[in-house]
Amino acid sequence: MITPLLPTYRRMPISFERGSGTSLFDADGKEYLDFYSGIGVNALGHAHPALVKAVQEQAEKIWHVSNLFEILGQQHMAERLVAETFADTVFFSNSGAESIELAIKMVRKYHFDKGNKGKFRIVTFASAFHGRTLAGIAAAGQEKLIYGFDPLPDGFDVVPFCDLDAVRAAITPETGGIMVEPVQGEGGIRPIPLETLQALRAIADEHGLLLVFDEIQCGMGRTGKLFAFEWADITPDIVACAKGIGGGFPIGAVLATEDAASGMTAGTHGTTYGGNPLAMAVGNAVLDVMLAPGFMDKVVNIAELLRGRLEGLRQRHPSWIKQVRGKGLMLGLQMPAVEPRLAVPDLVARGLVAAPAGDSVLRFLPPLIIDEGDVDKAITILDEALTDWSENGAPSA
Ligand SMILES: *Cc1c(COP(=O)(O)O)cnc(C)c1O
Repeated sequence: MITPLLPTYRRMPISFERGSGTSLFDADGKEYLDFYSGIGVNALGHAHPALVKAVQEQAEKIWHVSNLFEILGQQHMAERLVAETFADTVFFSNSGAESIELAIKMVRKYHFDKGNKGKFRIVTFASAFHGRTLAGIAAAGQEKLIYGFDPLPDGFDVVPFCDLDAVRAAITPETGGIMVEPVQGEGGIRPIPLETLQALRAIADEHGLLLVFDEIQCGMGRTGKLFAFEWADITPDIVACAKGIGGGFPIGAVLATEDAASGMTAGTHGTTYGGNPLAMAVGNAVLDVMLAPGFMDKVVNIAELLRGRLEGLRQRHPSWIKQVRGKGLMLGLQMPAVEPRLAVPDLVARGLVAAPAGDSVLRFLPPLIIDEGDVDKAITILDEALTDWSENGAPSA
């Protein structure tokens, strides 16, 4: 019999009651170190005082008005993102999937308005994840996402990850854009090499395509810069953003250049909730923290420490850990000898929250505010787990 809650998740039988900083607590008061942040969403940890204050103060003023009216917090947040990035303009939504949907619509409208009506196809990389709308699953093309949901919207050409020859070969007169995650998240914490990002920019320029980055997981400070593409010293045309930008409040954003956004005139797109005053109060509070001088340097430093410690762990346990991969605080351990799906509940029981990703990867997306003590604690738990598995066998189903 179906459960009252639509059973689309295989959930662990644990329920967290509260969180504070990098810690989560269940109903029994047991403490867990959160190295997953609700898929990188709680970028500033749990119950960050500045975010709590922003919600409380705004909740007493006004939560929601429609986008038919001016929303000052929204204008302010857009101005700040424009000042900090390549973008000239920003649209706020409530989720990653919605942001991807707009990015795709923007590519199509751009070429349509320039008189190139048939230029609607977008080249994407295999093992990508672009959210769960029909267009998002079509863009990713993975069997496990699309199975049973035909017919999908047309217009996506999936090529092997980082295969530039395949990108060039996929481009036809109908191609309007290229869309990739600078660091693949769900696909297994796989960074696109910086030279490859630069090559994608060059290919897009050569063919008059818009370059779209899905920074929903790898953006908002996750790699030690506001956006991961910044490491490559290039500028995209459109960036889809969500997750960390709301610190736990559902916020999505699409950042674009003036040219890329030129087709999105009044009436062409909209949202009921997107960018409402409550969301923008939190979003601006997130920016206050992330844009403060020194914040990103700290992320870079603690990320280097964590990566070094994970490398040490790999050297001690080479039979379990094949590779440490990722960028900044988006890190993965490739562990083909134990299914990460089975390893995760074991680690959670030991007090460390992590998650699986594709390609046999154990994924860490800790809050950006972790300190050395948190790193020590995580490494100790992992070390003990791997030693235990070596002696007593890996966790099994
Ligand atoms: C999470 C994610 C999405 C989808 O975001 P939702 O908020 O779940 O709709 C899209 N792309 C990437 C890279 C993601 O990590």
